[in-house]
Amino acid sequence: MSEKVVLLNSVGKDDRGYYIIHSPSRWSQGVRDLSSWFAYYPWELAYSSSLLKKYTDYKVKLLDPCLNRWDKHQTLQAVLEEEPHWLVIESSTRTINENLWVAKQVKKEINTRLIFVGQHPSVYPEKMLAQGIDYVLYGEYEYTLLELLLRRSPENVPGVYPNPPRPLLDFSQLPWPEDEDIPRIRYGMPGEPSSEYLEIQAYASRGCMGDCKFCVCRNIYYRKKSWRPRDVNDVVEEIKYLKHKYPEMEGIFFDEEAHNTSKDFITQLSRKIIKAGFNNLKYEAMCDIRFLDEQILQAMRTAGYYKIRFGIETADPKCGEKIGKKIDIPRTIRLLRFSKKIGLKTYATFMFGLPGADFNIERKNINLMEFLIKEGLLDNVQISIVTPLPGTPFYYW
Ligand code: SF4
Repeated sequence: MSEKVVLLNSVGKDDRGYYIIHSPSRWSQGVRDLSSWFAYYPWELAYSSSLLKKYTDYKVKLLDPCLNRWDKHQTLQAVLEEEPHWLVIESSTRTINENLWVAKQVKKEINTRLIFVGQHPSVYPEKMLAQGIDYVLYGEYEYTLLELLLRRSPENVPGVYPNPPRPLLDFSQLPWPEDEDIPRIRYGMPGEPSSEYLEIQAYASRGCMGDCKFCVCRNIYYRKKSWRPRDVNDVVEEIKYLKHKYPEMEGIFFDEEAHNTSKDFITQLSRKIIKAGFNNLKYEAMCDIRFLDEQILQAMRTAGYYKIRFGIETADPKCGEKIGKKIDIPRTIRLLRFSKKIGLKTYATFMFGLPGADFNIERKNINLMEFLIKEGLLDNVQISIVTPLPGTPFYYW
């Protein structure tokens, strides 16, 4: 009889009653008020699920306590009902205590073997092992998990702590992410604070060419600059599959790190979307403004993109330098004006409390935001109070 593997996203409600918005390769946060809550599709776990289902005989089940807003007791109950031989949990620092509690209870009750992955375990593997976790897979973990569960001796599997790191995977070779255990459409939650339409979260590339000191995926998951696109034909095939399976789907949110890193890629993808007749859908994408120009923006708009998201973070170039982000405000304003001219909505992120930011610099940030909003150049503004996450250079600053 084949063994069972449960892939578990973080608990969805912490011990203090906060609902968790979990995006472990970026950041995780808790909100008290459900009107501020939404759910990220747990994409690395979902890719792992697809790989295990495709290449192994394990019975595999993806569970998402965040989507279901389960606290640790409800999460434990759901896992125990599955009676897994293996439990894989992706955790960030935000909910590591609750996730460890669940894992230890499961081990105590049914002697399940425990694998921890994600930001916090990658940074503190010894602490995890000392707590009774059997394996810690650090960094980008999908193929590490596959190889480990294919029963290669752990000491021979790169990426299993304390072995050497695994080379970054070829993103174009991954199967599409899991869509059986949890329908991907369930993560479409139109309206603030999520997307405007009933959109499915999808990924046309992985990684980015940025160097932000606060960034978890850049510094912990991928450990270097790297941008890895998929074949644009395969991306369009995935859109076709999703639209066929979920006719109610209104669009796609390309929620990778930097959708537009290659001009050639984004131009080709836009053309393929139009050719396949899917430019009647609504697309939004996480972008890197350094690689946007008027031509790309126009191509995206023609293909049905309605919104671009990108980080400005600070109005002060010196602050930008300190966090590894090159800031060019005049160019940003020019591109925002063009975006608005062609009917593309804009969503920008800002950070308060950056290294070196004093009252005057924060005032400058507010002035810039006020200006952009008054000029009608930004539709959404996301403001974060900086939270250094363990494992990023920013944490040790
Ligand atoms: S642009 Fe910066 S924050 Fe965004 S994914 Fe790249 S390194 Fe991370």
